[in-house]
Parts: sequence; C-alpha cells; structure tokens
Amino acid sequence: MTKRKQKEVSLPVSGTPLVDTHCHLDMDAYKADLDHILQNAYQHNIRAIVSVGIDLASSIAAVDLSRKHEMVFATIGIHPHDVDNIINTTLSMVADLAEKNKNHIVGYGEIGLDYVKNYSSPENQRKQFRNQLSLAEDLQLPVIIHDREAHEDTLTILKERGPLKYGGIMHCFSGDIDFAQEVLDLGLYISIPGTVTFKNAQSLKEVVKCLPLDSLLLETDGPFLAPQPFRGKRNEPLYILYTAQEVAALRDISLDELAKHTSRNAKTLFGRPFFTDL
Ligand SMILES: [Zn+2]
Repeated sequence: MTKRKQKEVSLPVSGTPLVDTHCHLDMDAYKADLDHILQNAYQHNIRAIVSVGIDLASSIAAVDLSRKHEMVFATIGIHPHDVDNIINTTLSMVADLAEKNKNHIVGYGEIGLDYVKNYSSPENQRKQFRNQLSLAEDLQLPVIIHDREAHEDTLTILKERGPLKYGGIMHCFSGDIDFAQEVLDLGLYISIPGTVTFKNAQSLKEVVKCLPLDSLLLETDGPFLAPQPFRGKRNEPLYILYTAQEVAALRDISLDELAKHTSRNAKTLFGRPFFTDL
C-alpha cells in the first residue's frame, strides 16, 4: 500500500523587506489569529502592510489596527459596492478620520467602479468615485483604485480629472497591455495580486513582463485571491512571497531585486514618515 505524500510547499525567502500594499486586516477572516499572522509576516521580512478601508466602519478599524501595530498603515474610503449606503454625513466623517489620524493614514480608497457585482448603482458608483477623488486630493492622499469590468469608465473619469496630485494605484490589476499603458500614462502605479501565479493568468503574466519596474507594486488583497499553492484558501500577507517569486521569475530578476524596486515604489507613493526603515 502506498501512502500518499503530502506535497511539500517551500516558502520563498526575501532578504529585502517587502510591502503588502493592499490587505483587509480588519475582516473577520483574521479575527482569531491576527497577531500570529502579523508576526509571521514580519519574521519573513514583510515589513509593512496597508490595511484598506471599504466603508466607514472598516476605515475606522484600519486606523485602530495601525495605532496598535507598528507595521500596519491604514487607508480610508468607501468601496464601490458600498456607495449606495453613503448618507450626507459619511464623507465628512471619513475626512474627519483622516484629519485626526495623519500619522496612520497613507492613502484614500479603495474607491472606483465594480460592474461585476453592481451592489451599488453604476450611476452612483461614478458619482461617488468622482466625489471621493476630489476628497482624496483635499486630504492630500494618494488614491487606491478598484476597477472590475469597468476599464473604460474608470479611464474616462481619471482622464477628466487629469494627473492625480498625490498619485495612485490601480489595485489588483486585471487589464491587458493596452489598458496598462493607459494607466501608466496617467502616472499611476500598477499593483499585482496573487492571481498572477495562476496557470491561466496568461494576460496578466504578459503585462507583468513589460511593465517598468518603477511602476510596479505587490499586494495580497487578503483574505481574498490567495496565490498558488494556496489558491481558494484564506490569503494573508505572508503569501505575498509567492506573488513576488512569480513576478521576479517573469522579469528574470531575483526576488531581492524585485523587492528593492517594489518597496521603494511603495515608499515613494505613500511617502515619509511611513516605511522609514525600508
Ligand atoms: Zn481590496
């Protein structure tokens, strides 16, 4: 009788600190073991994690996490799924949160358009995307943009605004090379999620091969979108190592070399005094 062997999964190692530029640390998926998850990430040289807000409550939670954990930084904002719940005080409360927590908040978002789920009406998504782009600029924050199946409208809104004064990220990039070029022309960073490790992610792999290294960021989008070999499981900041390994391989550079670029990019975008030890 043969015993089925468990497939060994070896963890890639980075000698250079990495940044997870997009994770939802406040979500229930992490409730039971967040301390362990952060510790484990830190021990493997993932030195900064941006916890992204999707509504007022999660924005507050992200700020609280940043206050509690030195390696966590927060963003605030209302996700396109949730913009139909915006009432007349919501955005002023978000702004107030930003004003009072400047040392913990590194960006505004995620905001944008999601035409896959359409949990909020597309018309209101566009309206609140515009509103929140203005608010981000008032607050002097870079923007984290969410775009699912809404490339055209996302570009239209960004182009009518012109270059974002404090920069921004096209998070969880899902377009082709032509779209990537348009995004780069707008001066945005492109953030690569764990899906790049999937065998069928041919289009994303092609994009990754030709992006300028100084426009590239890495993210988990945890607890969602775990990379291979954990596809379908809960994602966490540690797994950014698999994404980094795949991106480095596609670029034919070492993981360390890639980490140097992506961490420097994160530091440039999010600015001082953040990530001072990177
Ligand atoms: Zn997200």
